[in-house]
Amino acid sequence: MIGSVLLYRIGPEGFYGVADDVGAAVRILYSDPFDTLPGGWELGRVVDLDRAGLLPPVLPGKVVGVGRNYAEHADELGNPRPEEPVIFLKAPSAVIGPRTPVLLPPESERVEHEGEIAAVVRSRLRRASVEEARSAILGVTCACDVTARDLQRRDPTFARGKSFDTFCPLGPAVRVGADLGDLTVITRVGGEERQRGHSSGMTWPIAELVSWISAVMTLEPGDVILTGTPPGVGPLAEGDRLEVEIPGVGVLENPVERERTAGVAA
Ligand code: ZN
Repeated sequence: MIGSVLLYRIGPEGFYGVADDVGAAVRILYSDPFDTLPGGWELGRVVDLDRAGLLPPVLPGKVVGVGRNYAEHADELGNPRPEEPVIFLKAPSAVIGPRTPVLLPPESERVEHEGEIAAVVRSRLRRASVEEARSAILGVTCACDVTARDLQRRDPTFARGKSFDTFCPLGPAVRVGADLGDLTVITRVGGEERQRGHSSGMTWPIAELVSWISAVMTLEPGDVILTGTPPGVGPLAEGDRLEVEIPGVGVLENPVERERTAGVAA
C-alpha cells in the first residue's frame, strides 16, 4: 500500500519514478500513474537520480493560470480583489523541468517570478463538484509562473506575457496524496526569500478552483492548474538562481539566463 509519495519523471527516457520522501531512493514505476491508484502501483529497481537527471514531472496538455488568488498579491499589484476566479492559459511549450534555464526574452524589460503551488489533474473532469475535483487531483508540484510584466500590462490578453518558452518551470516531483489545505510555497532568488504563502491564504482553495475551471473547459489527465501567487513578486535578472520550494515536495531550482536569439551578430 502506497500512501503519500513523490512522483518523478526521469531522464532521458521519461520513465516515472516514485520515492517515499524528499531525498529517499527513487524506484521505477511500472504502472500508469494516471490510470492506476497509488495503492496499486508496481515498483521496480532503484534509479540513480544524479546520473539520470529529472524531467518536468508531468507534460500537461494545458496549463491554466489563476490570477490574484491571494488577496495580498492583488493588493500589491493595485488590482481590485475579483469576485470570481480570473483564469488564463499558459502555453504548454513553456514547461521546463528542474535545473533548466529560464530564458529572459529580448521582447521584455521586466520578467518577474511568481512562485506557485501547481495542482496536477489525475482524471478527466467536466463540471465537477468540489468533492469530485478533490478526488481527481493527482497531487501538487512546485511551479514558477514566470511573467513578462511589461508585456502583460501592455497587451489586451495575458497570452504573450505568460507564454514565452521556459516560462513554466515545474518540479521536482508531484506529491501524490498531499493535504491540499496545508501547503506552504516559498520563492527564493539567489538564496534570498522573496515570497512565502500558505494555501490557507487562497481566496479560492485548490479543489474549488479545479471545480470552477472544469465548468469552463474539460480538464484532462496531466493538465496543470497554477493556483496563484502570494505577495512578493519581483524581477529576475541574468545570473539569478530561482528556487520555488513546497516543503514535502522539494525544491524546484532553475538558473536564469538571457535568451540568445538567432541573427544576433557574433
Ligand atoms: Zn501566477
